[in-house]
Amino acid sequence: MATLPATSQSALTKYEPVIGLEVHVQLLTTTKIFCSCSTKFGAAPNTHVCPVCLGLPGALPVLNEKAVEFATQAAMALNCRINETSIFARKNYFYPDLPKGYQISQYDKPLAEHGYIEIAVAGGMKKIGITRLHLEEDAGKSLHEGFLDAGDKTAIDLNRTGTPLAEIVSEPDIRSPEEAYEYLTKLKEIILYTGVSDCNMEEGSLRCDANVSVRPRGQEKFGTKAEIKNVNSFRFIRDAIEYEIDRQIEAIEAGERIQQETRLYNAQEGRTYSMRSKEQAHDYRYFPEPDLPPLVVNAQWQEAIGKMLPELPEARRKRMIADYAITEYDAQVLTASKALADQFEEAAKAAKNPKRVANLVQGELMGRLKAAGLEIEQSPVSMKGMAMSADLVESGAISSKILKDLYDKAFAGREDFPTVYEREKPQQITDVGALEKIIDEIIAANPKQVEQYRAGKTTIIGFFVGQVMKASKGQAKPDLVNELLGKKLG
Ligand SMILES: [Zn+2]
Repeated sequence: MATLPATSQSALTKYEPVIGLEVHVQLLTTTKIFCSCSTKFGAAPNTHVCPVCLGLPGALPVLNEKAVEFATQAAMALNCRINETSIFARKNYFYPDLPKGYQISQYDKPLAEHGYIEIAVAGGMKKIGITRLHLEEDAGKSLHEGFLDAGDKTAIDLNRTGTPLAEIVSEPDIRSPEEAYEYLTKLKEIILYTGVSDCNMEEGSLRCDANVSVRPRGQEKFGTKAEIKNVNSFRFIRDAIEYEIDRQIEAIEAGERIQQETRLYNAQEGRTYSMRSKEQAHDYRYFPEPDLPPLVVNAQWQEAIGKMLPELPEARRKRMIADYAITEYDAQVLTASKALADQFEEAAKAAKNPKRVANLVQGELMGRLKAAGLEIEQSPVSMKGMAMSADLVESGAISSKILKDLYDKAFAGREDFPTVYEREKPQQITDVGALEKIIDEIIAANPKQVEQYRAGKTTIIGFFVGQVMKASKGQAKPDLVNELLGKKLG
């Protein structure tokens, strides 16, 4: 994590940053919001277009029902209140990738309002308000490279024009770059769980603009804000906000006025640049879209959409803690993505002791996946294999050391656990005589621990088990070792 220079650390005792975020999420409909063109990413330029999304005169938009359902699901997951009636509006501006000369969006009557996201901050949880979530259409793309005369020309690809977006606007409740980062991480997690967007930042399915201002601590009135646009990773957004806070404090300290403007972040240089003075809402000449009737999502439809919502991360964590007797921390790690949580639950249900599965996933699986650069879905060890390995340790058939070796082999050969286990099935020492010999030696070599055990400190048996396992190179049968040790130590 980047840290602020010492000067701004002290400046932060004097000034308070105020941050609001606007996130655009592309909804995973197969067709566009107002026509039946495909939304598939990566097609040849200008092949997914029709009179409606090209904005040809006389073409009429027809609202995509699925887009409404997806946006409403997202709004519900973000604790928003759904407005039964919302109004589409024209946002007028000229830009080469916007052939109609206006964008159909929602203005004073959005689809949903008054939501929140809870984020973890030092000392507990904090609610970040969500002002609104509204539906709108995406614009096309200007291309500056990748075609023949790109040196002196810009090309336009209108495939993206009309792709449905949910715009999620936060309240200016965020007070630090870290809180902004947390908010975005949580937002993405929730949206991914709903499945209404893939939130893929490289493909532009999730985009974020940040409004940043600073004010003297104790002052109620907000300072003048700058909007930072088009930053393409959460880490860069955090860095950009940090830079911007610094820049504004320095300017104010030098007696300058902060301009209301749009700024772009340059990740290589780690700084923001002024792009243009920021438009005010009245610059867009919003008016109700005459070609679309008011959008009505009545109680009945809301109920039906509510039923489509899957279990969300917070609720899932609570249930998993109860169902599998795992810790809050386990639940936090295991629900980091829906895929991981799904896989864990599959294994946990199949195994005798779900808590052991939780430990194995965190202790043996995740690190190896990370080292191999694999996603959970690509794990060589299947969830069935995971459950099997947990049961083998649980029953004492294999030691945790042998389990580690088998996992190493599974990952090295990209094989599932049962395959490796069948082939390498470790020869365990189950010969009582041989084990007794090892145990006698260890008891003889550790008189102090024997004394402690006999004085009543029975937990020290763990030490002896460890010594026996070590001496047997992990091949002693653990439950047999326990039994024999108990007898020998009396
Ligand atoms: Zn179209």
